[in-house]
Amino acid sequence: MKWEDLRKSRNIKDRRGQRGSRNSMPNFGGGSNRSGGMGSSLLWLLLGSGGKSKWILIAVVAFMLIGGGGSGLFDLGFNTDNNVSQTQRQEDVLQNDSLAADTTDAEYEFLSAVLGSTEDFWAQEFERYGLEYRYPTLVVFSGSVETEGCGFGTTQVGPFYCPADETLYIDLQFYRDLTNQYDAPGDFAMAYVVAHEVGHHVQNLLGTMDEFNSARQRMSESQANALTVRLELQADYFSGVWARYVEGEGILERGDIQEAMQAAHAVGDDTLQEEAYGRVMPDSFTHGTSQQRQEWFMRGFESGTIEGGDTFNTSID
Ligand SMILES: [Zn+2]
Repeated sequence: MKWEDLRKSRNIKDRRGQRGSRNSMPNFGGGSNRSGGMGSSLLWLLLGSGGKSKWILIAVVAFMLIGGGGSGLFDLGFNTDNNVSQTQRQEDVLQNDSLAADTTDAEYEFLSAVLGSTEDFWAQEFERYGLEYRYPTLVVFSGSVETEGCGFGTTQVGPFYCPADETLYIDLQFYRDLTNQYDAPGDFAMAYVVAHEVGHHVQNLLGTMDEFNSARQRMSESQANALTVRLELQADYFSGVWARYVEGEGILERGDIQEAMQAAHAVGDDTLQEEAYGRVMPDSFTHGTSQQRQEWFMRGFESGTIEGGDTFNTSID
């Protein structure tokens, strides 16, 4: 992707080298109701009693971040490692802090350019429907980070979006991981990831996320997982829609779409579970198979607009 000359977004914050403090309280939602759901009320209850319960609260937040559900945090889906306890994870994070800070300014600039491009595209796309696109914030962190409404995020969770503060959180270490661990190298692999998280922001602005959260409350776990897959595939679709815009701007390079497709394959539930456990458990899928993720990215790329992206009322197979 020829990104160097693109407008760089100003809605990016550099929090590399700062650790999310585990001794201070995250702001759970503030004036916003968007964090929503049972998760938030539970957190408020715990917040009210202070003292020792602070540590219970942190444990609850940690549980939710790692996949206990209800935190309202939307990740990329690559983290299948549920066997490691949260305590172990936190220790890993602390030990990795010094290692994680070695990301370069070129990568940071690249993210600013990709974010800027998503802003330009989605502002224009929303305008077509008479809507206003509110720009999300992108926080670049290393190790761990404190959100405003979704508790703590860590490198291990991978890139994620927090609806409560309308912010994408990315540790640039993931850029390396795509190449080294997930066999998905190239700048457009990372661009696909950023555009996927921006896709969750679009869902948040369109009210899809609120509907999703309330529908999920009334479902069994496997039904809720199946609904989550549809939400995630739509984020992949939106990523593809943006990629089409980038192509129209004449800045795609040979192999870029292939890089995105490779990344979409790498973060498929079946591929990840096969690697982690040597078998697949379709009931536990939350992001879709490699084939589905590639398919919906490509559908978005071919269509180039929001229309055609209703993964909730279409067969997704
Ligand atoms: Zn996602």
